[in-house]
Amino acid sequence: MTDRLYLSDPYLVSFTARVVAGSEQGGPPSAVLDRTAFYPEGGGQPADRGTLGGARVVDVQESRGDVVHLLDRQLAPGTEVEGRVDWVRRLDHMQQHHGQHLLSAAFERLHSAPTRSFHLGERTCTIDLDISISKLDDAALRAAESAANESVWRNLPVVARDFFGEERSRLPLRKEPVKGDRVVLVEGVDASPCGGTHPLRTGDVGAIAVLGVQKWGQGASRVEFVCGGRVVRLVAEQGRWLKEAADALKTAPRDLPEAARRIAEESNARRKLSVELERELSRSRAEEMVREAKGSPIVAKVERASFARVLSGAIAERGAIALLGAVEDGRAHLCFARPKGAGPAMNELLKDALSILSGKGGGSPDFAQGSGDPARLDEALAAARAKIASV
Ligand SMILES: [Zn+2]
Repeated sequence: MTDRLYLSDPYLVSFTARVVAGSEQGGPPSAVLDRTAFYPEGGGQPADRGTLGGARVVDVQESRGDVVHLLDRQLAPGTEVEGRVDWVRRLDHMQQHHGQHLLSAAFERLHSAPTRSFHLGERTCTIDLDISISKLDDAALRAAESAANESVWRNLPVVARDFFGEERSRLPLRKEPVKGDRVVLVEGVDASPCGGTHPLRTGDVGAIAVLGVQKWGQGASRVEFVCGGRVVRLVAEQGRWLKEAADALKTAPRDLPEAARRIAEESNARRKLSVELERELSRSRAEEMVREAKGSPIVAKVERASFARVLSGAIAERGAIALLGAVEDGRAHLCFARPKGAGPAMNELLKDALSILSGKGGGSPDFAQGSGDPARLDEALAAARAKIASV
């Protein structure tokens, strides 16, 4: 059993220890020590990183009561080594993990929403709560966030140790222990069984920011949040995003919502106008094409897939068969149309043409469309034309 120094002193970053076991024959380099300040992955908290006697610690896992350090090179068993824990990473994990305890306690106290699970991610963290998303509107989220931050800013002492018997039975535990007797206690705020690393005072969490919520399965919700240094980094990151968006729209970041709304409306209006113009253009083009075709099928390539659709419809309405193609976004689009109920089945004709384009599509005997490889568009249109002639 490894002596876990991080349990009694979560701020310990430098220590000496003896290598009691190396890696198994042929396995990746690893070491078990008689004592360690490295936290092994567990309870939602990722493993520490750092160095051990000059080797890099690439992962730390728990195995049969021991802490196994996975390394980038071998250490000789029996030697004394110096360990150094990456403090920036550890502090970040302590801030997220303890912030999670305080936030989970706040959701439970204010909204009777117990926490099912916790995930500490690379950028943000999440907790899954036993509560319907319909009960977590913005005001509910902000209330829990405020309560959790109040616990941070009161800078309350955090007690993390084993509790037994009478003393333990008096603790209002927020959840059932998975293993061991260790409880992380913030008097009057939270008592949770936990084997993770926690700061000595809640103030070390810095701040807690709830980012959003989404529905998570039946009657449950996933709340995304960040704590401590991540809040500062996220504000900077989001500031950059807003500035880039504002520069692109030639406005100030605070005017973005209004500018985005206006541009969405304008683009919607333009889209409607372009549909109308296409329709109008298709009517005059169809007149002309049908007149010139003198009763034979019209085979043509046009600029856009949307125009091929409206034009083929307009041609069919004027009594001719339309076999139209367009190349858009690197795909060939086909639109085949016939006057209602007259002539060969367009869906059958399209099937053959699409086999040439290795494409996909379908439709009815009156109208069919599909898309495929643009390199053989001419060939596909010619084959469809020949097929009609042979009928
Ligand atoms: Zn915990």
